[in-house]
Amino acid sequence: MGTIHGVKVFYATPNVQKLPPGHRFPMGKYEILRERLDAWPQIERILSRPASDGELALVHSPDYIRSVVQGTLSQAAQREIGFAWTPGMVDRARGSSGATIQAARTALTEGVSGNLAGGTHHAYPDKGSGFCVFNDAAVAARLMQAEWARDRPRAPLRVAIIDLDVHQGNGTARIFQGDDTVFTLSLHGAKNFPFRKEAGDLDVELPDGTRDEAYLEALEQALITLESRFEPQWVIYLAGADPHEGDRLGRLKLSFDGLEARDRRVFEWAWQRRLPLTFAMAGGYGHDIHQTVQVQVNTFGVALDYWRRWQNLRQNATS
Ligand SMILES: [Zn+2]
Repeated sequence: MGTIHGVKVFYATPNVQKLPPGHRFPMGKYEILRERLDAWPQIERILSRPASDGELALVHSPDYIRSVVQGTLSQAAQREIGFAWTPGMVDRARGSSGATIQAARTALTEGVSGNLAGGTHHAYPDKGSGFCVFNDAAVAARLMQAEWARDRPRAPLRVAIIDLDVHQGNGTARIFQGDDTVFTLSLHGAKNFPFRKEAGDLDVELPDGTRDEAYLEALEQALITLESRFEPQWVIYLAGADPHEGDRLGRLKLSFDGLEARDRRVFEWAWQRRLPLTFAMAGGYGHDIHQTVQVQVNTFGVALDYWRRWQNLRQNATS
């Protein structure tokens, strides 16, 4: 039986971080997602290699990396992250950043690629927060810029980070403040965590209870504004599942169809402009965790559609 080629997606070594029973973070969703994607042979799942200290240091301070790796985070720092330190916490955070790095590199050659986790956008250079240890999207952005610059030192790779997790991408906004090569767009709940938000390049605050139509309209306006202010060459998309109406933390009321339309709009926008797109899962805390996973599975379906368009384009270009 030959290998079925399809959109490549990356995942870190499974089940390395064990949480105590009753922990607020739904770690089980990643395993359910992998199982659901088993039914989809054209989504080619690849075990990622972990991010190195050097890669993480493109974004994070050496002191912070050391305190994570060596397990010397203070109790307060662990509380802010929301996980007690364990070796598994480090492995998962490294692995997830590694998966986004590989999805970044793959998308830049194949058009579309993703991470089965990642999107840990509350991580700052020198601290973690809100279940986020390292900022995978920021690390991947900086690393791809560095690789790109080897051949084109005078023309930095321009990256748009489109963050549609329901919470503001505060860490990402802070990391790229003053950096005109990375545009940070975040659509998020006005009244939701983080309560002290950072200024990104474009922040769109949504009221509690926002539904499909208003959300999609806000997204449309945001994409128009983004395009009027920035000309990206690559998109990193945080496809958070937590704007779903069944989410415990989201406070918005998007349906499955609304979220799929959201995904489709972002992929279509990038495709129309022939911008490669890397996606990550970000948050999702469904009362029923299978609903969260369903939102994510739908994102992978959209990704496969757009990956096929890229392959058709490449085949037509070479025939
Ligand atoms: Zn979130």
